[in-house]
Amino acid sequence: MKKILILSGKGGTGKTTVAAAFISIEKARAFADCDVDAPNLHLVTASLPEPELFDYYGMGVAVVDPDLCIGCGLCAQSCRFYAISMSADSVAVVDAPACEGCGLCERLCPVGAIKMEDNVAGRRMLYTITGEPNKDGASSAGKRTVFSTAELEMGSGTTGKLVSEVKKALYDHADKDVPIAIIDGSPGIGCPVIASITGTDLVLLVAEPSMSGISDMKRIVETARFFDPQIAVCVNKADTNEGKTEDIIRFCAQENLPFLGRIPFDSHVTGATNAGTSIDRIDCPASTAIRAINDRVRDMVIGESPVNNALNDRVRAMDIKDPSPAEDK
Ligand code: SF4
Ligand code: SF4
Repeated sequence: MKKILILSGKGGTGKTTVAAAFISIEKARAFADCDVDAPNLHLVTASLPEPELFDYYGMGVAVVDPDLCIGCGLCAQSCRFYAISMSADSVAVVDAPACEGCGLCERLCPVGAIKMEDNVAGRRMLYTITGEPNKDGASSAGKRTVFSTAELEMGSGTTGKLVSEVKKALYDHADKDVPIAIIDGSPGIGCPVIASITGTDLVLLVAEPSMSGISDMKRIVETARFFDPQIAVCVNKADTNEGKTEDIIRFCAQENLPFLGRIPFDSHVTGATNAGTSIDRIDCPASTAIRAINDRVRDMVIGESPVNNALNDRVRAMDIKDPSPAEDK
């Protein structure tokens, strides 16, 4: 199974639009949303069944037994996250959301009044789809499709660990004959992104043609190169700033990165998102560009393009109603 990861240096570049379209075009039977801070791939993947739910435990949280506490204040003085204060009657009080679970206070307390307790920091969801294809083509008849995702509780950390669990669930539950898994990564260059990149075969960067977009793209290229996957680039809303798009293409040439295409600004994208469907289901300039990019990605990872793409496009155009175009953000 080849693993394709869609990334962007920041949010709002159209990463999930591209990931959802790839899933639809490929009729992917294994896909994941690793943007655990703000997952939204499920919003454009229609007809999902109820998922299996799993609690995710983070780093633990300090809990004080007020009957044992002698009010020495050592824990409050030592906590680097200012998560412990002393009450008026000299009992340590933990501000649970501020506790990072380092465990220092538990080790320092002279009377064993602090214990680290399990802390549900989020939940993981595993969708298993069987039978006929759904309206976004996420399932193939007679086959099984697995969609793995998760959602972190507000203020919780350790996102990298949760991302690793999302990917592991995908790989463990996908059928062995699945050729391609598509993973929607999280934005930025932090811990969850690094956890997303490890073990993938190809990282597709969706860049934005702006000063900050180019800077973000360069940072994510630098990060991805540590892990040695193939790296390729495309530009979304390319025609909104042709000069910056050319700068991105030049950067790719200098860095020997395959540039796979330009996606034009297209108000159909917002219409599709609002309708809860993939842009691939609409015949429009953006979907045409994304299909071409998907073919190039496929060529890079398994060296072939779907021969029936043109036929599929015509069939979809016949029976799918085009959502009303709306202004893009
Ligand atoms: S270190 Fe232990 S005894 Fe001292 S204030 Fe904290 S909880 Fe209470
Ligand atoms: S576990 Fe660490 S972060 Fe949490 S209250 Fe204790 S010292 Fe502070």
